[in-house]
Amino acid sequence: MKIRTGIGYDVHRLEEGRKLFLGGVEIDFPKGLRGHSDGDCLIHAIIDALLGATGKDDIGQLFPDTDSQYKDMRSTELLKKVMDLIRERGMAVVNIDSIVIAEKPKLAPYIPRMKEVLCPILGMGKEDLGIKAKTNEGLGAIGKEEAIASLAQVLIREKP
Ligand code: MG
Repeated sequence: MKIRTGIGYDVHRLEEGRKLFLGGVEIDFPKGLRGHSDGDCLIHAIIDALLGATGKDDIGQLFPDTDSQYKDMRSTELLKKVMDLIRERGMAVVNIDSIVIAEKPKLAPYIPRMKEVLCPILGMGKEDLGIKAKTNEGLGAIGKEEAIASLAQVLIREKP
């Protein structure tokens, strides 16, 4: 059985007047992530890891921010498109581990809901999706609540 791994990273700036979406879930917070889509950096990191594992272009080339059809699009919809590509290649996701780095808000209460939203799209069980919330210990732009970043690592396999 052929297996392939991929790694993804994303960071978005926080700004007033936008809704905050992380892991496909709206988070109660006065600021949101700036972006052409909804700015969901956790999903973007997962998408980049999936694309890397399949040998595809990165998220910016697949969904260019110059293309108006992706403007304000929910990142869950982008993830569905990427999963279609993976299934077309006869691949399936084995597991994903990920980290969200945000000084605020506290994200742990939202992680079960993120898994409920993401696992059906990814075609995997909740035990196969790791989401860890960390702060940046007050350091740098993330520590000053100017940005939120995410990392993801994926393992995919050919379907038997
Ligand atoms: Mg992004």
